[in-house]
Amino acid sequence: MPKESSRREFLKRSAKGAAVGGATAVTVPTAAAENSPATLKTANTTKTNSICPYCAVGCSVVVHTIGDKSRNVKPSIVHIEGDPDSPINRGTLCSKGASLEEFVQSDRRLTTVQHRAAGSREWKRMSWAEAMPKMARFIKDSRDKGFEAEDAKGRTVNCLKNIAMIGGCTDTNEINYLLSKFRFGLGMVAYENQSRL
Ligand code: SF4
Repeated sequence: MPKESSRREFLKRSAKGAAVGGATAVTVPTAAAENSPATLKTANTTKTNSICPYCAVGCSVVVHTIGDKSRNVKPSIVHIEGDPDSPINRGTLCSKGASLEEFVQSDRRLTTVQHRAAGSREWKRMSWAEAMPKMARFIKDSRDKGFEAEDAKGRTVNCLKNIAMIGGCTDTNEINYLLSKFRFGLGMVAYENQSRL
């Protein structure tokens, strides 16, 4: 059979080549095979469209997960990328958006309240049940002490200068919006964050 014989010859030649060179035969993937969608880590993922939470630009993202209830495997995110069909970002993401996967599942992500007592150098974990009334007490006491209804010339100012608040680039747009409302309600002047509200 010509097909069998050519296959045998090919194997013989390969074996000879390996023996002559003293080398181990390896399969070298072609560029086409390397770039094949079947070899990508997103090949068998479930794709879910979502929106980057970080700022008001609202870039669209595609979240790739593996595992679901029907396969009895806990779902986990393997990749998040810009949605090429989005008219807003056309598949691109800024550096914050590009790190979204870490935002969801980094083992360095803080998941509990961290409290540093006055005069202490150490941060300690605290439960929300303990932290919430403590924060409310501190804020109320500080506001009672520092709130100014009028300035020295009797003009209405309704401001609070003895409490400051910061938001971070990893706070979501919605959290920073709510923080803004909260601090306006208190009269707080010193407030900084990186969201584009
Ligand atoms: S943080 Fe970046 S990726 Fe996210 S919505 Fe804003 S511009 Fe887009």
